[in-house]
Amino acid sequence: MKTYPKSFSDFVEERYPFFVEILETDNPPGEEKAMCALLEKELLHLKARTRIDPAGNLIGQIGEGENAFMLGGHMDSVMPCKEVKVIRKGNILHSNGQTVLTADDGAGLFQILTALRFVQENNLPCCPVDVLFTVGEEIGGVGVNSLQKSYLRAKQGMLLDRADDPGAFVIAGPYKRNFRVVFVGTAAHAFEAEKGVSAIHMAAAAVAQFPQGKINERLYANIGKIHGGDSVNQVAETAVLEGEVRAFSSLDAENLLEQYQRIIDSIKYQFSASGEFDPHVHLEYTARREGYEHNPNMPLIQAICSVHEELGITTDMQITRACSDAGDLTNKGIATINYANGAHRVHTKEEWVDMRDVIRVTWALVHILQRLGEQPEILS
Ligand SMILES: [Zn+2]
Repeated sequence: MKTYPKSFSDFVEERYPFFVEILETDNPPGEEKAMCALLEKELLHLKARTRIDPAGNLIGQIGEGENAFMLGGHMDSVMPCKEVKVIRKGNILHSNGQTVLTADDGAGLFQILTALRFVQENNLPCCPVDVLFTVGEEIGGVGVNSLQKSYLRAKQGMLLDRADDPGAFVIAGPYKRNFRVVFVGTAAHAFEAEKGVSAIHMAAAAVAQFPQGKINERLYANIGKIHGGDSVNQVAETAVLEGEVRAFSSLDAENLLEQYQRIIDSIKYQFSASGEFDPHVHLEYTARREGYEHNPNMPLIQAICSVHEELGITTDMQITRACSDAGDLTNKGIATINYANGAHRVHTKEEWVDMRDVIRVTWALVHILQRLGEQPEILS
């Protein structure tokens, strides 16, 4: 791998205190205000026109003209992420072991703002940029779900939210549907069980019959929660299953849920066969995240690969079963790839990031922006 010039690593290192400030700002989902204020200050320094939408997402438009490009990340982190204390040993950053490091997605936020600052201070060619920092990504894309597309000019973009080595990026992600099934039977005393219908028995029949686990390469399902009943001497009146389906096409996800519906219809029929009881079963969606699949030949992806080659960075194009804001943004009309920010072991207290990777990603970002500035037809 060719390396970045010393003048560039000095530039990023000079901003290291800002990186620490990002990492050490408390930011659980729903409590992103302090982070938002910190990032907005920096966006204003970049002469961005900023807006905080009703959900709390921070949006900044930089530059004028056609063919804007979106750069995005999320402002929240998984818990525990309060009172983070960054420890640096050589080039490796980690927390003090009490919290996550919040490099997911603090590394991405820092890389975006640092690349933009470098481009501006050095008067490099650059496309118009829409910056999008969302809230509530870690709890199901709350911010991106309510984002109004009209706040952004870009039709293509990238998130810096893939926890992997520099050069990796995701071009396809899954559709996810969360579901809940509520079973309502008839309560009775356990010694008169014939006078009731057990909701737990119905739920168990469903668990036994629902296809689940890895169903095929492109379809996964999981029942992650089950609860019901009040007492061991009572025929249970209610039981609830909760789970999720992940698939690379929305049709596959919805077909599986239709199959679940047919299974619970037959269970309801079976448990009301005596004609004495009328049990209820209800299946509902509780959350959804959208998937996406980009053609590897799209000009943006080709341009990124060519920048990597020029910089000596190995390209690693990936398909993932993990959700991110990229799917929801793509489905809103902003074709988005999810680009690696160098973080590792995210969502654990062992999370770490190598400062050299942070610099490498920022270096690549500078060159991607420059390429998009020089060749606006890539985004047209
Ligand atoms: Zn993330």
